[in-house]
Amino acid sequence: MGALRLVLADQLTLNVAALQGIDVSTDVVLLAEVHSEASYVKHHKKKIIFLFSAMRHFAHALRDKGYQVHYTQYTDDDNQGSLGGEVAKRLTQYDLSEVICTHPGEYRVLADMQTWTKQLDCPVTIRDDDRFIAQIEDFAKWADGKKQLRMEFFYREMRKKLSCLMQDGQPEGGKWNYDAQNRKSLPKHIDVPQHTQFAPDTITQAVIALVEKEFADHFGDSDNFHYATTRADALRVLDVFIEERLALFGDYQDAMAEGQPWMFHSHIGLYLNSGLLTPLEVTQKVEQVFYAQGAPLNAVEGFIRQVIGWREYVRGLYWYKMPGYEQENFLEAQLALPEFFWTGKTKMNCLSQCITETKENAYAHHIQRLMVLGNFALIAGLTPEEVNEWYLIVYADAYEWVELPNVSGMVLFADGGVLASKPYAASGAYINKMSNYCKSCHYSVKEKTGQTACPFNYLYWHFLHRNQALLRSNHRMGMIYNTMGKMAPDKLADMLADGDTFLLKLAGNEDV
Ligand SMILES: Cc1cc2nc3c(=O)[nH]c(=O)nc-3n(C[C@H](O)[C@H](O)[C@H](O)COP(=O)(O)OP(=O)(O)OC[C@H]3O[C@@H](n4cnc5c(N)ncnc54)[C@H](O)[C@@H]3O)c2cc1C
Ligand code: SF4
Repeated sequence: MGALRLVLADQLTLNVAALQGIDVSTDVVLLAEVHSEASYVKHHKKKIIFLFSAMRHFAHALRDKGYQVHYTQYTDDDNQGSLGGEVAKRLTQYDLSEVICTHPGEYRVLADMQTWTKQLDCPVTIRDDDRFIAQIEDFAKWADGKKQLRMEFFYREMRKKLSCLMQDGQPEGGKWNYDAQNRKSLPKHIDVPQHTQFAPDTITQAVIALVEKEFADHFGDSDNFHYATTRADALRVLDVFIEERLALFGDYQDAMAEGQPWMFHSHIGLYLNSGLLTPLEVTQKVEQVFYAQGAPLNAVEGFIRQVIGWREYVRGLYWYKMPGYEQENFLEAQLALPEFFWTGKTKMNCLSQCITETKENAYAHHIQRLMVLGNFALIAGLTPEEVNEWYLIVYADAYEWVELPNVSGMVLFADGGVLASKPYAASGAYINKMSNYCKSCHYSVKEKTGQTACPFNYLYWHFLHRNQALLRSNHRMGMIYNTMGKMAPDKLADMLADGDTFLLKLAGNEDV
């Protein structure tokens, strides 16, 4: 008797662990569009379209290789609605004797899988996901006994492990990290290349119709779907990034501009996270361009750091800290997520731009997520639970393993400084420096207090003031608390009063 080989929606890689050593004459591969996964949060419509279409294309690719595939479509009469239900049903249907899976991306799914052996009364093997460069145990070994888990040191280990951008045991160019060169704002007259788009084929068109019908109440727009849904097209996105954007990726990594959601970023997060691309191949391709074509080191290193540094690090941290990480709320932030996070209807232009683009594209680049949306959530004191759920819903690349450490660790400082050495809090001046959002805003970024002052300005000080018992002792916050201490008392009092008024309005979902 053969094995049931389960492939999840984010495991669409031909040599994913569950498929290794497959016996095509006896084994059956199961892919299933199940209600429990599609709706445990109300994922952006474009995320569901992307994943269902990519799964359907992947099933074709497997059949072309001669694999037996059982594909359960969302509307099939005998769809069991959950992964466990589907596994049980297909085991019996095909008279199979064991289940082979790849380690899932989310703790929730792992906990479910771990109950299957007992429920199904057959062996269930969960294999390590070897698409990641660092295995869960590797991260734990690195992290154990350390007081601080800084990404930078983990990243250096990854560089050494892969011999990536290394010369005679030393980092290329003499430095590990060129981030200081990657903070330019976008000049007025620069052409940002068109992002790569694909017209939906018949498979994708059918999925769009399905999602519009079955997931009508989910967040986001379904029109203008243009993402790749096959490995070949995802590779095309990567190649075009390397040809057209990589050289300036570093320079403008932190820049934002009105009407420019794509900038010089790669737009491959959703492909990496679903398995259409793998981190190692992406890293090797980009490294090769550095040596073969002389792409700028600040761009190449900056990009590789995101993929083998941040991406691997947050995955390691997630599994190191789960379960429990999702409950953390170091700053005891309590405010509910304001309604405008779903509509984009706010007078704060930076937030309105980033939310509207998120709604349209299921995408925002890192600095929009971190320094506009996240910064606001932090300084306004929005509750981690609701902020995490929002981020998990709205982005096509969102899975808890990567979303949670970025939100609770990087953005909200909810883990008390495990990931970040200090909160990424900033006033409107940062947004004004890195974008042109402030030019057409209702509020004035230059004003610190008063009805038309930029809310980021007074909320920043309000945040520092109300959290000083928890943050003052942080050695990286000393200077800013000294500045606060030297501030004219009436100026500080005005900012705190404006902060109070604004937060009351926010709590009442008033127009802000
Ligand atoms: C609050 C917040 C939430 C985020 N949620 C997610 C998420 O749910 N899923 C997700 O993949 N990324 C998330 N990120 C990280 C990052 O913003 C996205 O990976 C990136 O914007 C995807 O766009 P891109 O492919 O154009 O990335 P690029 O800027 O071109 O970067 C290249 C790749 O590096 C990796 N990467 C970059 N930064 C990070 C990071 N901080 N953590 C992990 N990987 C990184 C991604 O795989 C990305 O595709 C989040 C960041 C923040 C601040
Ligand atoms: S003025 Fe303030 S609220 Fe308006 S866009 Fe600038 S930073 Fe955002």
